[in-house]
Amino acid sequence: MLNKVSVGVRDLQKYRLVLGNELIDEIEKLADELKGIRLCHVNATSFGGGVAELLSSYVPLVRSLGLTIDWQVIHGDRRFFTVTKSLHNALQGGDGSLIQREQAQGQYKTQNQMNAREIDYNYDVLIVNDPQPAALRHFSDDTVAKWIWRCHIDTSEPDEGAWAFLSPYIEQYDAAVFTMDKFIPPGLGVPHIATMAPAIDAFSAKNMSLPRSLCREMTDNLGIDRERPLILQVSRFDPWKDPFGVIRIYQLAREKLPGLQLALVGSLAGDDPEGWGIYAAIHTEADKDDDIHVFTNLTGVGSMQVNAFQTACDVAIQKSIREGFGLVVSEALWKGIPVVAGNAGGIPMQMTGNLSDYLVDSIEECAERVVYLLQNRELALELGKQGKENTKRNFLMPRLIRDELSLVKRVLEA
Ligand code: UDP
Repeated sequence: MLNKVSVGVRDLQKYRLVLGNELIDEIEKLADELKGIRLCHVNATSFGGGVAELLSSYVPLVRSLGLTIDWQVIHGDRRFFTVTKSLHNALQGGDGSLIQREQAQGQYKTQNQMNAREIDYNYDVLIVNDPQPAALRHFSDDTVAKWIWRCHIDTSEPDEGAWAFLSPYIEQYDAAVFTMDKFIPPGLGVPHIATMAPAIDAFSAKNMSLPRSLCREMTDNLGIDRERPLILQVSRFDPWKDPFGVIRIYQLAREKLPGLQLALVGSLAGDDPEGWGIYAAIHTEADKDDDIHVFTNLTGVGSMQVNAFQTACDVAIQKSIREGFGLVVSEALWKGIPVVAGNAGGIPMQMTGNLSDYLVDSIEECAERVVYLLQNRELALELGKQGKENTKRNFLMPRLIRDELSLVKRVLEA
């Protein structure tokens, strides 16, 4: 059997304090209409990366509505996840040569076939996240459940061969969900296609409100000097997140602000073998400068510590080159911290209005914007405030729960 992740139940009612009653009432009505329905999310890993982060809040919050919802995680070994990471990269426009190989395609199919034998199908709707388990629908004998494929990556310009390989599997689903309209590959033949952005949980350990003084104390204990400015990037060790670009940005900014410190907080995800090599290379770079600090989930820098870093830093960077959404942008903005970020994929929808002046296309531009914010603290605070308001309106969990349950209802009624 596939592992089911234990996430308990979390009370959605708390959101009435933040968002008022209208949206929560709407969700309760939807949940009433769906009473008795059994839902299950499936993905590739229970830790590291945005999807695991999302599901670890989404599933327990939906449970509090009285609905049955579970989360199953597929099995895979290093070879399988090397293939799926390369598929992921190719779908974001990267090199598609590995996934063209017969052997790689064979590994992908065999592992999906094995997982399809082990999945618990006792659900009315199965929501399969991202490319790694996408072929489950093809290999399953299930004829009862509705199947939804949820794509979290930027598929606006996929490698043609990679998409030609994956799309026949996707076209067997009842619905497909993308983060933005522009990510929907042209000609996709699926009965329902929906767009909805991911969201963050305001009450999770990652995002709950913590006093900045406490956070500064926590980061101080981790070696950051609280008297000097700190810039931060939180992300998996992944080439699309441009971690070496961030080091360069720090070096350029430090020429103007000599006391500057950089923290790179990166997780190693269960389905991302590429991360280890990048982590080692970053370490080598960081060792050359006492004010570059590298932290990972391997050494106890978990959700609460990430929260502390995001609350304690002066500017957050997310220098992504391709980005499905980038939960970390909303996470920092929710804490009132200004963000300078790559003008890529799902990031611009989180940085509208004045925040869009801090969307950047180059390392130099990013360094210049970071320095500007560090030298103009009032503006930085004002931008953080605007970012928090925007996140509240658009990117908190209840909005996503409403969007997804509405889709589930439409798919079940079809
Ligand atoms: N994250 C974390 N610890 C780390 C690095 C990342 O908890 O050391 C979390 C981060 O806070 C965010 C998620 O992992 O919630 C990354 O999601 P995002 O959408 O930004 O990127 P993805 O990894 O899905 O590409």
